[in-house]
Amino acid sequence: MHTSLNKILTNCKTLMLDMDGTILDLAYDSSIWLDLVPKEYAQKKGISLKDANIELHKYFVSMQGTLQWYSLDHWSDLLGIDILRIHELQKNNIQYLQDAEYFLRKIKSYDIRLLLVTNSFRSILDLKSEVTGIDKYFDQMYVSHDFGAPKESQIFWERFNEIETFDCRQTTFVDDTESVLDSAREFGIDSLVQITLPDSRKKEQVAENYLGLKGINQLINNNGCSN
Ligand SMILES: [Mg+2]
Repeated sequence: MHTSLNKILTNCKTLMLDMDGTILDLAYDSSIWLDLVPKEYAQKKGISLKDANIELHKYFVSMQGTLQWYSLDHWSDLLGIDILRIHELQKNNIQYLQDAEYFLRKIKSYDIRLLLVTNSFRSILDLKSEVTGIDKYFDQMYVSHDFGAPKESQIFWERFNEIETFDCRQTTFVDDTESVLDSAREFGIDSLVQITLPDSRKKEQVAENYLGLKGINQLINNNGCSN
């Protein structure tokens, strides 16, 4: 089948993609953090699920957007539960967002350097690669923990650009989180795309400040028959 690039990618030499909520369904992570972790925490502390959720919410609010927020070790220590074990038990629920794998297969045929740029913890990236085979599509995969700062921070982008040299004018970055896109824009990347349906079990979000696409497959046009 013939495909062509959306005009957003006309001048693109480097395409950077977030993982959770951009390629993989955020519904998986939501079920871990909003359902299974509170249940196990309540059981461990001998408190009600409601109280567990109140305690967890305080932690979530205080750490959102920090590197600790994305650190599995930090959360496991803080809550006294083995979160990697929960992921391993649930790994069969990890899945691509609709048509995201189709997009990755197609984009490989273009002369564009394809990078995964994620705040995910390394052990979770490894688990998700094992289940989905996502690693075979990328020229390189980067984890913000290796740079000592999350994507929300300019420190991340400065250190990242020292390792992976890219021209901001020929780079497109796709993410589902507005604060991450804000940070990329501050660093100088102009071509930014926000995924508006990161979680298959939730309603579509509104992209207020960036070009919004429901799914990453909208970066290519399918001409003729469907997949
Ligand atoms: Mg994301």
